[in-house]
Amino acid sequence: QHKEVITMTGISFEGRVAIVTGAGGGLGRAHALDLAARGAKVVVNDLGGSIAGTGGGTAMADQVVKEITAAGGEAVANYDSVATPEGGKAVVRAALDAFGTVDVLINNAGNIRNAPFTELTPEAIESLLAVHVKGAFYVTQPAFEVMRDKGYGRIVFTSSAAGIFGSPEQANYAAAKGAVLGLANVVALEGAPHGIRVNTVLPAAGGRMAADMNPDTLVGMPTTPAHFEPEMVTALASYLASEANPYNHEAFSIARGRYARVFIGVTEGHHVPFDAPVATAEDIAAHIDRIRDQDGYHVPGSMIEEFSLIP
Ligand code: NAD
Repeated sequence: QHKEVITMTGISFEGRVAIVTGAGGGLGRAHALDLAARGAKVVVNDLGGSIAGTGGGTAMADQVVKEITAAGGEAVANYDSVATPEGGKAVVRAALDAFGTVDVLINNAGNIRNAPFTELTPEAIESLLAVHVKGAFYVTQPAFEVMRDKGYGRIVFTSSAAGIFGSPEQANYAAAKGAVLGLANVVALEGAPHGIRVNTVLPAAGGRMAADMNPDTLVGMPTTPAHFEPEMVTALASYLASEANPYNHEAFSIARGRYARVFIGVTEGHHVPFDAPVATAEDIAAHIDRIRDQDGYHVPGSMIEEFSLIP
């Protein structure tokens, strides 16, 4: 059955070992099931706690492993928190102990604690940065070492439209998700010479998080029916995690049935000639339309590229 799907689509994970963090439910569960159905041996990591990231347990990860093995796939559960260096190492060690290597890492674990900006407690700020940002560091570092040494790897980070475009009452979440994209940008550049491709997804789909929004902040959100199945995100994650994916250092949105590349560009801008005096605030005011003009923008592949694109 699985082999048929693979032949049909050409996207196979036969012989590959994958880690999916936060795979006890929502999007992560869908990612783990799809990778396993396509032949990957999967580490199903999940702390098993609440949507706020509190508590923990083995039931969520165990359930997904059960689903995978019942369907004829191979998986092991791991219950470590991604948010500490020891936890991150233990997640990767689970893959090495059970399956001998790591080819694919999908950083998906996350928590959420929404509140108006001035009401965000230090705890709500720190716990979000711990799970999303530190978690992405601490699992990816040991996985990257394995991938670098074997000269192959695929890493998918999970950011959010909230972090890249903004979303009221989610400052802690948005800051964390923006940081994830910044991290992915560098891991992508450092991974490239080693055959490691690193990309980011910005999902909108039916995990626990999508339900946890203040309706007042969602004014203007279209209410027409649209695909909201976690599997819609999984299609993109599996593609990016596959050997077939030739892209590195990119980000993609999946929302309301639309798949699209997301990028940060730089306008052509206003140039101060080398022999002219240093600009003043008045010079900026005089040229602000040119500075903001989006015609002819660039999408630099690195900081060096940004600077070298300036004539
Ligand atoms: P979810 O709550 O169903 O899944 C997140 C999982 O991460 C949970 O199972 C949770 O137990 C686990 N987790 C939390 N803290 C952990 C830790 N310290 N260590 C290991 N596991 C931990 O949410 P979801 O909606 O499926 O979201 C999955 C990812 O996608 C998250 O990173 C989320 O921020 C991101 N995202 C989701 C949406 C959406 O619309 N659902 C939108 C943008 C981004």
